[in-house]
Amino acid sequence: MPSGTELLASPEQIAKYEPVIGLEVHVQLATNTKIFCGCPTSFGAPPNSNVCPVCLGMPGALPVLNKHAVELAIEASLALNCTVNPKSIFARKNYFYPDLPKGYQISQYDQPLAEHGFVEIHVNGETRRIGVTRVHMEDDAGKSIHDGFKDSERYTYVDLNRSGTPLIEIVSEPDIRTSDEAHAYLTAVKEVLQYINVSTCDMEKGHLRCDANVSVRIKGAEKFGTKAEVKNLNSFRFLKMALDHEIARQVALIEGGGRVVQETRLYDPDADETVSMRSKEHAHDYRYFPEPDLAPLRVSEAWMSSIRDQMPELPASRRKRFIDELGLREYDAQVLTATRAMSEYFEKAAAASGDARAAANWVMGDLSALLKQEGKEIEDSPISAENLGGLLKLIASGKLSGKLAKDIFPKMAASGETADVIVQREGIEQISDTGALGKIIDEVVAANPKQVEQYRSGKTQVIGFLVGQVMKASRGQADPAVVNKMLAEKLS
Ligand code: ADP
Ligand code: MG
Ligand code: ZN
Repeated sequence: MPSGTELLASPEQIAKYEPVIGLEVHVQLATNTKIFCGCPTSFGAPPNSNVCPVCLGMPGALPVLNKHAVELAIEASLALNCTVNPKSIFARKNYFYPDLPKGYQISQYDQPLAEHGFVEIHVNGETRRIGVTRVHMEDDAGKSIHDGFKDSERYTYVDLNRSGTPLIEIVSEPDIRTSDEAHAYLTAVKEVLQYINVSTCDMEKGHLRCDANVSVRIKGAEKFGTKAEVKNLNSFRFLKMALDHEIARQVALIEGGGRVVQETRLYDPDADETVSMRSKEHAHDYRYFPEPDLAPLRVSEAWMSSIRDQMPELPASRRKRFIDELGLREYDAQVLTATRAMSEYFEKAAAASGDARAAANWVMGDLSALLKQEGKEIEDSPISAENLGGLLKLIASGKLSGKLAKDIFPKMAASGETADVIVQREGIEQISDTGALGKIIDEVVAANPKQVEQYRSGKTQVIGFLVGQVMKASRGQADPAVVNKMLAEKLS
């Protein structure tokens, strides 16, 4: 096995090449039970306690397909803009692993659940579509725990709790061109699947796993280069690091007169390098054949439309609506649809405020800062969407200045009260009445003869100071626009 201290290409060398990347993403479906038996999928149970003859791979045990898993897989397929096939076939993929007791994985092969989808990504102000080749269902293997040495023997333990956990595999077209695009693609897949509650996509628990296929070609070349598959990318940061590393390794190989061999490599984040794991087994090595214990999976038009009807509005459509109907900027719409809770909060606040752009600014600004400070998610926001909308309504109607609203905001968070209640109790109100303001302005003018003199001799910027004095005298309640206008009139 190579040591992994390979030569890496220089930025100048890398700039001559175009990377080609395709991702294979495994996602654990959020079912309570496994895909072919009734064992729980709960995380953290004592080893080998969530098992039965089916998921232990006992001879003669028969799998029964979990209907809810299929529903979630269909929802994922629709959210990824795929066509769901009316008939798909489960197949045995034969290989040996100590944590694969059946000696094969039940997957789908030449007739997958869904095909021909796409995911939209936004990178550097550019929107691109990354094709989704297929979405298929399969079961997960168990887990080997390599626990080091004991009594000078090396031990490996096998925990089969995870064996039979329902997964979907999402295979992308080789449409990705940079590590940033790969990052954006994986983010988009994660966000949409979380949004529709198909998976928690918790990477730390292994609910979202990613393998990357990478090749490089001279810019302008038509033919793809030979790819290597990089496994073990269990965080977003590692995905980007591993891709950048692998691209530099491949370019250096080619620039040095060598060639890339098709193989599977393992990313080691500690050393920031990839090492060869095995030369790529070809698909036929798995000896796929149709699973004899499961009937073909048939998805009727009626079933599919009932699943579609239960799904929430997808983030892409919501984003478009936020831009077209509410007048949001693209970036804001993107941020505000990152999670379902966020988009629902924003939409309620916008409706209650009557000013969607103001609502967007407050949710992304003051509210986000408040949540961050309190370590809370938007679901647990101390200010409800309706109450935030109520505050913004007071600004829109001229009752509150932006400054007053910012003072009231933390009080709303602390008490859970509406802005109206706080305003009434504390007698806070923006003063735009010229009579009341005229009196304060007269006092400020009388008390600051020097600045008045400066203003009149042409140093007009001193008006800022005088407006500030009026604001102070009114306890921040004066309407600054009106004050400005009245002061300018009085001094000229
Ligand atoms: P395999 O049979 O080796 O798994 P597939 O054709 O199924 O190969 O593709 C697996 C993944 O590799 C897909 O995501 C696909 O987009 C990607 N891929 C295919 N060819 C290339 C290539 N030349 N460079 C980079 N990625 C590729
Ligand atoms: Mg593959
Ligand atoms: Zn079981």
